[in-house]
Amino acid sequence: MRKQIAAANWKMNLTLAQGEQLLDEIIAAPHSLSNNQLAVFAVPFPYLTMAQQKLSGKQNVFVAAQNCYSKKSGAYTGEVSVEMLQSIGIQYVVLGHSERREYFNESNHFLAEKVNICLEYNITPIFCCGEPLHIREADTQNEFVGKQLEESLFHLSAGQITKVVIAYEPIWAIGTGKTASNEQAQEMHAFIRQQFAAKYGEAVANEISILYGGSVKANNASAIFAQPDVDGGLVGGASLIANDFTAIINALK
Ligand code: PEP
Repeated sequence: MRKQIAAANWKMNLTLAQGEQLLDEIIAAPHSLSNNQLAVFAVPFPYLTMAQQKLSGKQNVFVAAQNCYSKKSGAYTGEVSVEMLQSIGIQYVVLGHSERREYFNESNHFLAEKVNICLEYNITPIFCCGEPLHIREADTQNEFVGKQLEESLFHLSAGQITKVVIAYEPIWAIGTGKTASNEQAQEMHAFIRQQFAAKYGEAVANEISILYGGSVKANNASAIFAQPDVDGGLVGGASLIANDFTAIINALK
């Protein structure tokens, strides 16, 4: 059965002390994660170890990096390798967030290399996809997202693809307060799952967690997560507020 996941994306926010306080507050808040549910915290690189220590021993709670490089090691000043992440116990990495695609020119093909190296080191990529506003307005979002999946993921084997988590994030909904409607989210998630079914078969497609991202808040999470093909969310702004992210964790189905 596929996992239901609430993933926090802190982006480039918070000082160390603020991050510690946020995690302390979330840990202290009442929340229940069943066997099939996970909470994941994608924190900035300098806070990975702090977060690992604070969350160690917590059932079904994981720390993620927000990025990694595509090479094993070497003369790549400023980059962070998957081997480094693995060596400190990190099991998840967010890849291809729209901000990385836009500000750092990350292409579908480059992301395919990052996906490969994560899987080689047994780290789960949380692979982000999603269309900008002009593509949605032209009603070509299926072609756009289909190409992102094809160029970054469809070279993987069936055994590998079930180790990838997908985050569908319509760019026009990220940080804008504008959420895709429940129907729009379900429609795109069903489309994504169909693409996997066509490539790998239905059983494999049904094992893949597909998260929704884009202005998920405490007050809309339950309705979005209730959609049959939505398996939780990748959450930016609301993940920086302890009560809100706790409510989002508790909204998992
Ligand atoms: C994100 O950072 O991936 C995101 C979805 O941000 P927000 O929840 O703030 O829209």
